Amino acid sequence: MPGRVTPTRPPRHLADLDPAERRAAAAELGGPAFRADQLARHYFARLTDDPADMTDLPATSRDELAGQLLPRLLTAQQELSCDEGMTRKTLWRAFDGALIESVLMRYPQRVTMCVSSQAGCGMACPFCATGQAGLTRNLSAAEIVAQVVAGARALARGQVPGGPGRVSNVVFMGMGEPLANYASVLRAVRRITDPVPDGLGISQRSVTVSTVGLVPAIRRLTAEGLQVRLAVSLHAPDDGLRDELVPVNRRWPVAEVLETAWEYAASTGRRVSIEYALIKDVNDQPWRADMLAGLLAGRLTHVNLIPLNPTPGSRWTASEPGSMREFTGRLAARGIPVTMRDTRGSQIDGACGQLAAPSPAPRTRAAETQATGPRMPQPLQISARVP
Ligand code: SF4
Repeated sequence: MPGRVTPTRPPRHLADLDPAERRAAAAELGGPAFRADQLARHYFARLTDDPADMTDLPATSRDELAGQLLPRLLTAQQELSCDEGMTRKTLWRAFDGALIESVLMRYPQRVTMCVSSQAGCGMACPFCATGQAGLTRNLSAAEIVAQVVAGARALARGQVPGGPGRVSNVVFMGMGEPLANYASVLRAVRRITDPVPDGLGISQRSVTVSTVGLVPAIRRLTAEGLQVRLAVSLHAPDDGLRDELVPVNRRWPVAEVLETAWEYAASTGRRVSIEYALIKDVNDQPWRADMLAGLLAGRLTHVNLIPLNPTPGSRWTASEPGSMREFTGRLAARGIPVTMRDTRGSQIDGACGQLAAPSPAPRTRAAETQATGPRMPQPLQISARVP
């Protein structure tokens, strides 16, 4: 079964380290500390880790430095694209065989990278096959950053239709529960948002960290004083159902999760996204919409409704269009900002609830938090396969 590997620690990489730690690492390797800054400029600004590109480094030590501080962490196994190439899902193999996925989604005004934070997931949500397969291991900060760098590189080199571009948004909605891998996710957020060349220079406000509701970790995130958006995968307004859909609810029930989310909103001034996968005859009843509205009324929030992406053999399926309209209307009638999320990428199992590495495809919640409407289906194209 793919993904079943013995947990091990990925090689150290420049993106695991802050600028001071990088300089110390360069000095340990016997070079001047400023070599770390040169390597950072190559990786974060020029988006290369190929020693052949690093002509400002001495030829004698280039390979050694790059090998020690910029080891290749992820190897593309497969790339799938749809939406005329504007949506690309990449399956990556890590150094130890762990498989993860990332998705690039290009829109007219922005490009969003959806990244994985863990190989597998330990949260066991029953509608999600990633959860069924369990957790393989946490990703390192650099393994997370490498997914963004790969997307940024493809855009910069004009490999995504629409001409050269850059990543504008990052969402931690791929495989895994980001706040269960807190230290690496926080480091990755810092590398993604540190100004170039210390990091990728993406605005904190353009980064979304999602969670099923790990209350202590949300509190920790609040104390960081960052401006990242918090997304809470709620999926049910009542503990009876949420205990079933999101088992961690038995530890931290709805009221406690939302109270902590409102503390985050108050501290950051940022709306908290409430993610709600609409599952036919499970959580899409009008009374649940009213109950959800009651919980959210007057709060700094925005609801993303996501038609569940059905997967083969699952008893869970998406709500009927009429139920979705009713659910949306009831929230809107109570003044709750609500969006029916784009299911972009669903043809490549890269939309919400479909991201997962092994085949047949397990999944996670995922994708974009502020899409505005469904797109017309486009034929799936296999754009590349890397053996
Ligand atoms: S839905 Fe998300 S948190 Fe739940 S098991 Fe799947 S990946 Fe984990």
